[in-house]
Amino acid sequence: MVFKKRFAPRRKFCRFCADKELPVNYKRPDILRDFITERGQILARRITGVCAHHQRLLTREIKRARQMALLIYTATHDSVVKKKSMI
Ligand SMILES: [Zn+2]
Repeated sequence: MVFKKRFAPRRKFCRFCADKELPVNYKRPDILRDFITERGQILARRITGVCAHHQRLLTREIKRARQMALLIYTATHDSVVKKKSMI
């Protein structure tokens, strides 16, 4: 059986390497948010296409941003709050 390609192969590239001006910094949670799931998990490199160097910086900065309460750790707290507000 021959598998047809459903998607045109698109080369993944590191956004931070492509744009040197793009900062990897905990002060920019708007950028970091692109690299976590809606439940707050850090996305794997194979999914985002970020290079090894920037993935290391990224994880560090995401963890810093969490400590500064700029990003979420998990969605658990959020759902608990929502449930309580519904009652
Ligand atoms: Zn890179």
